[in-house]
Amino acid sequence: MAFLYKGDNAAAWAQEFAARAPEIPFHLWPAAGEAADFDPAAVRFLAIWQPPADIPARFPKLEILFSVGAGVDQFDLAKLPPTLPLVRMVEPGLIDGMVEYVCFAVLGLHRDMPHYLSAREWRPLPVKTAAQRRVGVLGLGELGRAVLTRLATFGFDCAGWSRSRHELPGVRCHAGADELPAFLAGCDILVCLLPLTAATRGMLDAQLFAALPAGAALVNVGRGGHLVEKDLLQALDDGHLSAAILDVCEPEPLPAGHAFWRHPRIWLTPHIASATQPASAVEAVLENLRRHARGEALVGLVDRSKGY
Ligand code: NDP
Repeated sequence: MAFLYKGDNAAAWAQEFAARAPEIPFHLWPAAGEAADFDPAAVRFLAIWQPPADIPARFPKLEILFSVGAGVDQFDLAKLPPTLPLVRMVEPGLIDGMVEYVCFAVLGLHRDMPHYLSAREWRPLPVKTAAQRRVGVLGLGELGRAVLTRLATFGFDCAGWSRSRHELPGVRCHAGADELPAFLAGCDILVCLLPLTAATRGMLDAQLFAALPAGAALVNVGRGGHLVEKDLLQALDDGHLSAAILDVCEPEPLPAGHAFWRHPRIWLTPHIASATQPASAVEAVLENLRRHARGEALVGLVDRSKGY
């Protein structure tokens, strides 16, 4: 059995693997110019962030392909054998990081921080309570649900939207395209935590912004491909949206000179909302290897027909 890893934190993954599963040969993807210390034909499990195009040809015995991140939009799903299980990262470190970031962003917007940091004048705005602020999250998956559960503890008026129907204590849950307008009409702060798929690409556009109440703010922690950049700039500049906090963009890094860098009501972070944590990620991978050995369902298995 061989497990091959390619991504950031390579040394930490190797260390965690050695400590938790010394019986499993674990190899790192060779650096440029270095020879591989493994036989690709013996590799049964591969964890990777940015995949090369020829995975099936290179690793004929592959049994599971793990994404090192929660998303799988970096994979060309059409080029992977349909029978090869693709598993995305579902692990507590990644979830906790996202909860922290979204709480920071929502609290910052709720307390008008983009305004105070750009205005730099001693002029208080009316202070609203959390109960008077409606927060909506697009996506009720592993991350969206955890974020809403924590936001509800501040007393925010919370809602969520997903493809299928969910139930979450203290959160009004909407489902499907028919319920999207009603959901958006009740969001003073909108958080995007959707996966990037053909169905969600470009969703954060002029039409969606127009469906939000005047003065609403946006937090995009999904993917840059969800956002139509010129529509956001227009909505901010005509005053319909008050502010945006963006952790993702397309392409990354955001090019120097891009209008987002100097916009007073846009806060940018370089895709750091959350990061896979080696210790808990390796534990999640090992649990899936145990499940695989027992013939049980894998946690985070991607549904190829949905693309997430
Ligand atoms: P999940 O797959 O667990 O959840 C996805 C959610 O989106 C589900 O609720 C799903 O609905 C919903 N959804 C997907 N497509 C549609 C659609 N067409 N219409 C309505 N709802 C839809 O993903 P995670 O919560 O684990 O992660 C979400 C995304 O967060 C990742 O794909 C990634 O892009 C991003 N991310 C960003 C990070 C960062 O640092 N900025 C870090 C980690 C993740 P249903 O429940 O009905 O299936």
